[in-house]
Amino acid sequence: NLQLNPERYTGYAGPSARRIWDAIYSENCPKYSSGEICQEKKVLYKLISGLHSSISVHIAADYLLNETSNQWGENLELMYNRVLRYPDRVRNLYFTFLFVLRAVTKAADYLEQAEYDTGNHAEDLKAQSLMRQLLHNTKLQAACPLPFDEAKFWHGQSGPELKQQIQKQFRNISALMDCVGCEKCRLWGKLQVLGLGTALKILFSVDGQNQPDQPLQLQRNEVIALVNLLNRLSESVKFVHEMGPPIEKIMGEQVSEHPAPEIGSWQRIWETLVGLRLGKLISS
Ligand SMILES: Cc1cc2nc3c(=O)[nH]c(=O)nc-3n(C[C@H](O)[C@H](O)[C@H](O)COP(=O)(O)OP(=O)(O)OC[C@H]3O[C@@H](n4cnc5c(N)ncnc54)[C@H](O)[C@@H]3O)c2cc1C
Repeated sequence: NLQLNPERYTGYAGPSARRIWDAIYSENCPKYSSGEICQEKKVLYKLISGLHSSISVHIAADYLLNETSNQWGENLELMYNRVLRYPDRVRNLYFTFLFVLRAVTKAADYLEQAEYDTGNHAEDLKAQSLMRQLLHNTKLQAACPLPFDEAKFWHGQSGPELKQQIQKQFRNISALMDCVGCEKCRLWGKLQVLGLGTALKILFSVDGQNQPDQPLQLQRNEVIALVNLLNRLSESVKFVHEMGPPIEKIMGEQVSEHPAPEIGSWQRIWETLVGLRLGKLISS
């Protein structure tokens, strides 16, 4: 039960956790510099970095502040040091959120018709109704009419190979999740990577106009992963949006002798993304 096992601080850290992140970044998403690698690979890097930011936000938002008294709460310093002080990490979080939101809105017809069958009729009806509210939410639709033109990604000469390569990289990332040495982290890690894979599948593998014979097919687990990932990312974005300015103010004052790279940047990032210039960000 995911609700009984929320994504939060678990104490999983040190060389083991670091090795997993290093492996994900170095083997699967080589850091790029402008012009060196194609857009698709940039997208993959941004997605993983955005997911990493989101995980860090959830750790900071629900942290074991005092082990003796079992006191849980927000660790604002950690939030600042791991995410807020790095504009690119914040930008990648927003990017990943909009990417997944775009996938959900694109698959709206399918998701509306999908079976939400748990055996508990009342719960199933509620799930259906909540999905409908999500899919027809006008604010979400307005925020995400076309964050970028995903169709153009696969139309180049090397499109099919790139697609295969990215699918392989995603399989590698999923396999790496099995090495995460903390059960809860592994659960959430696997779920969210499956959610990202599902978003990619929707956005890149299925194009209703070009492949009318191949209607979108998702497995039950993929739908669950996609919706839970959207929830995790939206909670992270909300936290950063609401808590970002006060945290940056406090931390900015504390570190004024050692200035951070760019304080106050998250707000510009949000404005840029909601200004629907995400397509430009991909190639930036
Ligand atoms: C799949 C997975 C799931 C996890 N889930 C949890 C969890 O639920 N609860 C928990 O307490 N811990 C979890 N962890 C551990 C947690 O993510 C950190 O690894 C741990 O807290 C140690 O943090 P750190 O400060 O060493 O930096 P890490 O977060 O381990 O980061 C390692 C390095 O990656 C780079 N980096 C960091 N963030 C980004 C970013 N957004 N974009 C690009 N590069 C970045 C930096 O160079 C950083 O030094 C998880 C780890 C993994 C691999």
